[in-house]
Amino acid sequence: MAVWDDVVGQERVTQELAAAARDADALVSADRALHTAAPGEPGAGESGGASRMTHAWLFTGPPGSGRSTVARAFAAALQCVSPDRALGGAPGCGFCDGCHTTLVGTHADVEIVRTDLLSIGVKETRDLVRRASLSPAGGRWQVIVLEDADRLTEGAGNVLLKAVEEPAPRTVWLLCAPSIEDVLPTIRSRCRHLSLRTPPVDAVADVLVRRDGIAPEAAAAAARVTQGHIGRARRLATDERARARRAAVLKLPLRIDDIGGCLKAAQELIDAAGEDAKQVAEEVDTKETEELRAALGAAAGTGGRLPRGTAGAMKELQDRQKRRATRTQRDSLDLALVDLTGFYRDVLTLQLGAPVPLANDEVRDSLDRVARASTPVRTLRRIEAIIACREALDRNVAPLLAVEAMTAALRAG
Ligand SMILES: [Zn+2]
Repeated sequence: MAVWDDVVGQERVTQELAAAARDADALVSADRALHTAAPGEPGAGESGGASRMTHAWLFTGPPGSGRSTVARAFAAALQCVSPDRALGGAPGCGFCDGCHTTLVGTHADVEIVRTDLLSIGVKETRDLVRRASLSPAGGRWQVIVLEDADRLTEGAGNVLLKAVEEPAPRTVWLLCAPSIEDVLPTIRSRCRHLSLRTPPVDAVADVLVRRDGIAPEAAAAAARVTQGHIGRARRLATDERARARRAAVLKLPLRIDDIGGCLKAAQELIDAAGEDAKQVAEEVDTKETEELRAALGAAAGTGGRLPRGTAGAMKELQDRQKRRATRTQRDSLDLALVDLTGFYRDVLTLQLGAPVPLANDEVRDSLDRVARASTPVRTLRRIEAIIACREALDRNVAPLLAVEAMTAALRAG
């Protein structure tokens, strides 16, 4: 299985990256040949012409389009050491040590930065830049994947800028962000930009069947209702709780007849997001805390007391966990709002009689009811209210206030 197999519905992008990986491989081989070949002999694998490889890339695309999957696949192709390359095979076999360790996250020369914090600060970025300046231990490329380049603070962006402007010869930066506007202009102007599209529903269903072993019908349904968001589709197809959560969200439009219903629905959305954060915390925090205690040498059998001077590290972990809970809660709430937008989009489709398949066909009765009781203009206003709520949450407005304002606006429509 080649590294690109996990990239769904992005043929143009994968072609370009495969070509870049081929040129990158030629550069490495040429460097090696330079050191070993007799003078005058051309380096192996010269591609001739301009190299399609460059040292800074920016991947943008809507949530769920697979930005980080693409970045990781490219990183793997850059580290590919398959002997087939010499026979004209493209780098990125998916099997060799370079590919495999990159994909599972243990390659010594690939740093994948995925933050569960709301922002990436100057200190973390300095550490990364220092890391990026090292020569690759494996002799190929030093790859830094920054999954949330949109979360860099301005100060952090400036630290990164210097590194992207004057990169070490074998360092590659792979930045991911929702859109190009989310990245500082100075940084994005130094990156080669590739934008991903929302993958087609069929392609998503296909990958769920092929990779996750999900039954074709369930895969098709999950792909359809999540409209091309791969991660969500997988979660919906495999997680009973996620299906229940979604079903509850789709009932909301029929429960906001009076102001009491609006307030109650808002509170429930907030509570459900809090519940998600709690569950993630239960799964991850305890294990993380235990690991850190062990690493710090907490004495077993003495009530596990921590050695002197290590309380700071524990405090740092607790702060991190608190910020992660905040982010999980926000992400979960945002997903609910995406589902709600999908509901009203279907309502609009019905009102306009558009020949488009409904995303939420399983609640056809509710869709019909809301469609009959309102007009396209009102539906658009409702969709705008949801968008406004998502924007308010982005600006750190207190979640309950933002959601209450939204449910009230949905009722007024
Ligand atoms: Zn390989």
